[in-house]
Amino acid sequence: MAVQQNKVSKSRRNMRRAHDALVAANPNECPSCGELKRPHHVCPSCGQYDGREIVAMAAEVDLDEDAA
Ligand SMILES: [Zn+2]
Repeated sequence: MAVQQNKVSKSRRNMRRAHDALVAANPNECPSCGELKRPHHVCPSCGQYDGREIVAMAAEVDLDEDAA
């Protein structure tokens, strides 16, 4: 195991961690439905990517229908 030669001071440790903050997501507007979506990902609300439907979306799921 590698062992550090010198103690890293609180200042140096904190300077290193200054770049560790999480950055917020950068959503784009979906060109087909206008909903916000992640860039380079299939739209979760309409299932389209690059003008084509990739994921077929269920019209509407009625949960009470199967219970009877
Ligand atoms: Zn969409």
